[in-house]
Amino acid sequence: MAGTATSNALEIGHGPLTNIAEYIIDGGALDDATALRLLTLPDSRVYDLMYAAYLVKRHFQGDKLHRCSIVNAKSGACGENCTFCAQSSFYQKDTGVPTYPIMNADAILRAADEAVEYGSTNFGIVTAVKGVQEGPMLDAILEAIRKIRAQGRIAPDASLGVVTRRVLEKLKDAGLQVYHHNLESARSFYPNICTTRDWSENFETIQRAKEVGLEVCCGGIIGMGESPQQRIELMQQVAALKPEHIPLNFLVAVKGTPLADVAPMRPVDCLKSIAVFRLTNPTSDLFVAGGRVQQLRQLQPFIFMAGANGMMVGNYLTTPGRTKEDDLELVADLGMNI
Ligand code: SF4
Repeated sequence: MAGTATSNALEIGHGPLTNIAEYIIDGGALDDATALRLLTLPDSRVYDLMYAAYLVKRHFQGDKLHRCSIVNAKSGACGENCTFCAQSSFYQKDTGVPTYPIMNADAILRAADEAVEYGSTNFGIVTAVKGVQEGPMLDAILEAIRKIRAQGRIAPDASLGVVTRRVLEKLKDAGLQVYHHNLESARSFYPNICTTRDWSENFETIQRAKEVGLEVCCGGIIGMGESPQQRIELMQQVAALKPEHIPLNFLVAVKGTPLADVAPMRPVDCLKSIAVFRLTNPTSDLFVAGGRVQQLRQLQPFIFMAGANGMMVGNYLTTPGRTKEDDLELVADLGMNI
């Protein structure tokens, strides 16, 4: 029965972790200490952990496969100083990422058509900016959203930074389905990631988007130098927002950014993070976005056994992803339906 015992009392033992899965399926929530014990299990237990996460995914998501693509609709010259980001004006001279203004609605529409060809369910319009305000940039985005919605082939999403309630209402009126904004990291780690913005602005942006009735997509990046405790902190802070969709990114250490020399995670640790993210966020779509290729390497197909029910396909904001053919083949080889 949900909530009759704290998860701290759950037996982790040496065998399959089906008791953990049953507890969560029954409505239980992992406390931080239990989540940390799971995240730091020895490698020899990773399949036990993945199986528990898989059972939870199977219960809440069935065989639903979330696939999203994005377009970088306005690149570079961002005034924020996020240390992982190639588009920050603080590091752009070293990263060499191009700057261009907002794409027009027809160019965004063409990118949406490409996302449909990739078999994506959702298409995100992303802008490198602290937050889009009312004006020509927002008008171009609204026009694109209306056109994508009119075609009805893919769900229009947007990631436009820290925005006002009025902007969110306009996006919703235009037909936006999902507003995306990441917490990026645990609150306690955020001063290492960004000092031009407060973490609470990220959290409150998602709260505002929910208040206006949008679905929300909110996650973060793992592998930026945070501790295992801070990974759990991020998972629980995301869970507090109850997002419909969660993008789990692994750091892509881009040359020229302050995080360029952060050592990559071990692929097996990526799987553990996916599994515990699933166990702490059982009912959300959990999809692996940036860093899948670079950090999971040969273990990419295992993300679905570890509890993910989706992935970003196509290119990322400033780094290439895998080819459409490779990702479609991966899904087909696993016997999953699009
Ligand atoms: S706000 Fe977004 S685009 Fe700007 S530096 Fe941070 S991550 Fe990059």
